[in-house]
Amino acid sequence: MTRAEFLRLGAGLAAGSILGARLGPPCAVCAETNCFMSLAEAEGQNQTGSAPRQASEPSQQEPAVNQPEPGKANQPADPWPTMTLRPYQLLCVLCTLGEDPTGAKAGRLKPIIDQISRNPNTAVTLRCNLREVFGFQTSGPDEDTPEGSDFNKKRDLDVLYRLQMPPGVTLPARILVNHLLDAIRTVRDICGADGAGSEAWKGCPKADKGYYEKGRAIQLSLCERACGMAYPRACVKEKASGKGTVVLIPPRSVEELARAKKESLAAMYRAKKTGIPVKPHILLCAVCQYGGGVRPPCPDDLYTLDSQASYPCDNLPELVELVLKDPEARIRLTEGTPWEVCGPCPGRDAAAGGCIHVLGHGGLTNQLRDLRLLRILGLRFGDTLNGRELYRLIFQRIPSTLAVCRFPLGAQEDALSVWTDSCGRSEVNNPNYEKGRKELMQKLGMA
Ligand code: SF4
Ligand code: SF4
Ligand code: SF4
Repeated sequence: MTRAEFLRLGAGLAAGSILGARLGPPCAVCAETNCFMSLAEAEGQNQTGSAPRQASEPSQQEPAVNQPEPGKANQPADPWPTMTLRPYQLLCVLCTLGEDPTGAKAGRLKPIIDQISRNPNTAVTLRCNLREVFGFQTSGPDEDTPEGSDFNKKRDLDVLYRLQMPPGVTLPARILVNHLLDAIRTVRDICGADGAGSEAWKGCPKADKGYYEKGRAIQLSLCERACGMAYPRACVKEKASGKGTVVLIPPRSVEELARAKKESLAAMYRAKKTGIPVKPHILLCAVCQYGGGVRPPCPDDLYTLDSQASYPCDNLPELVELVLKDPEARIRLTEGTPWEVCGPCPGRDAAAGGCIHVLGHGGLTNQLRDLRLLRILGLRFGDTLNGRELYRLIFQRIPSTLAVCRFPLGAQEDALSVWTDSCGRSEVNNPNYEKGRKELMQKLGMA
């Protein structure tokens, strides 16, 4: 069997009929329909898109694997495995999943699809067969398909150009796949014969079959992207799961989210005397939610497959309520995404122990926000304060979200930047923060 046959092995089934993603409730934090509007979504596709962290000390009441999953044995032992791919192989993954949404049955693509869907945090390095200044990362021609060396080089560079990434780049698969979904809508102009001046450039016979486009549409409707859309996305996943469809970046299930809500809230209340572990910057997000009018309790029908209920994914509304009611409640500033507050958020990834919000970008943006906040407050990870005193300090020193949340440098309008999210893009203080800060200062007797 040739390498090309390996890559192209597929059952040739028609694509699944699970493209019915629906728009869901707006994100209660950002007051937007989506926390992140991707290139694809901005152009009117009916699919939508949603923050990793470094490992931190486990939260006090946190389940051993950082997630209330009964099947703990299924959790990956190594949260950061690695894999090296040629850029075009990422395209071929989607092509294969368009040809057969249940996945490759054999060949080179099967272990790639299996690994990414089993652990989307896998660190993927994209290497090409190049010389000159990028010769340091060269892959050589070993995994070339039969269309010829020049064709293979051009196809790899075309993919990297669309992704706006250099050869040799390493990123978590979840970011690469999500960026691919946004950046490359069709492979006809990358892999096909259009415009080719000779037989030598005729390209891949699958380029005009629509497999890639179909696979992309299916994955866009199912992959974990932004938490504002996470509930409806989880619902779509539930509905698709019976069909055996492979989901490259699987969202958490509705059932798991419902269980996490109950168990993590109980853990939060239990920790109120010793210190509820909280990721620092989300203390500000709690104010944004409060200013946006979010109040407990969580609607009864939230965790049902067809729910249209709008409620934030995390336990921040309940944390604010606790601080208002119980002056003794204590908060411990903690790295990562502690179970007690982030536990039920669809943007929390148990395997990496961190935030995967906004295509995975939250693993960067939110860690920097945490550190910016600590610097302004003059505090450090591990500090534990009375909730009211902590908020007194926050309200004194942080009149606006801009100093903590904004990323004025870089490509804020560029959806392919790993530093992009809607809060970072904003050039004004979040109006919900302004309102929530005023209201909470009054309630806490600080006005
Ligand atoms: S058309 Fe492109 S993406 Fe699809 S199988 Fe061929 S080389 Fe891979
Ligand atoms: S503006 Fe900042 S504090 Fe408010 S929701 Fe966005 S990230 Fe959180
Ligand atoms: S996991 Fe935590 S930090 Fe990340 S989006 Fe959810 S609540 Fe925010």
